[in-house]
Amino acid sequence: MAVIGFIGLGHMGGPMSANLVAAGHVVRGFDLAPAALEAARANGVTVVGSAVEAVTGAEAVITMLPGGKHLLDCYEQVLPAVEPGALLVDSSTVDVADARAAHALAGTAGFGSLDAPVSGGTAGAEAGTLTFMVGGAEEHFQRAEPLLAPMARKVIHCGGPGNGQVTKMCNNLVLGASMIAVGEAFVLGERLGLSNQALYDVASISTGQCWALTTNCPVPGLVETSRADHDYEPGFSAALMLKDLKLAESAAEQSGTDAAIGRLATELYQRFNEEGGGGYDFGAIIRSIRERSAA
Ligand code: NAD
Repeated sequence: MAVIGFIGLGHMGGPMSANLVAAGHVVRGFDLAPAALEAARANGVTVVGSAVEAVTGAEAVITMLPGGKHLLDCYEQVLPAVEPGALLVDSSTVDVADARAAHALAGTAGFGSLDAPVSGGTAGAEAGTLTFMVGGAEEHFQRAEPLLAPMARKVIHCGGPGNGQVTKMCNNLVLGASMIAVGEAFVLGERLGLSNQALYDVASISTGQCWALTTNCPVPGLVETSRADHDYEPGFSAALMLKDLKLAESAAEQSGTDAAIGRLATELYQRFNEEGGGGYDFGAIIRSIRERSAA
């Protein structure tokens, strides 16, 4: 069993750290928010007073922070206190350039590091069924795999430094675009007199099949696991979807990729966020599509 430093105990990091404790690890956790610390303490996390204290004595350090700036600031702060030989694993979703900058900071300080963003949302974090997409050297991946296992259904090595983030952003480009397409298909069907059930029964076993339809269907009453059946309480919020689409859009621009659907999906989620939808599950965009369709 390992001593693990865990920085960022929010919606994701809270349940992830709890699963590490349940697997028998000693988790030294820190968050800026007192409520997150309280919840972590109740889950058996050894709550400490600073990020530096969290990494002290830890053989692995996991970060689960809001974004790239938080990650780089955190690494600058804690790296001098990280134990020799410790492995750094960042599971936040950040820009590829920031992920690679974090690897460079860790490498210069003499530490192995991985970017290991996740898919599966808060439900996956709670159930310990996240998918980890990992970028970094093979030897570090081998070392991290058993540590990540209690939080994961799958841990996949996607290549060198930053490639975990590349994978995550490409996956979420598909997810954002497919949710909009599924929403448009239901509204179009409704307006032409088709029942949602009939469309679901066919598309869910036909070529329209996708996760946005069969696991997180934006229409309530069709799929038990859908956040639509819980008043679109996230799940994966529209604000986070916009964050990921923007990361994909900026990476597309930087790499000269013609990602037209990605750009449009970003625009539509931007508008949905501006309309006040950011705190709802990203499937709630169907409401905006319905409202904008002519009476
Ligand atoms: P969150 O805002 O609930 O948690 C982030 C936590 O980091 C907060 O509790 C905040 O207080 C803490 N924090 C910020 N700066 C800190 C610092 N310097 N030191 C210590 N703690 C600090 O966000 P979340 O939903 O848990 O998401 C975390 C990351 O996971 C994000 O990068 C997000 O994009 C990604 N992600 C989220 C989901 C999801 O469904 N929520 C799914 C996949 C990936």
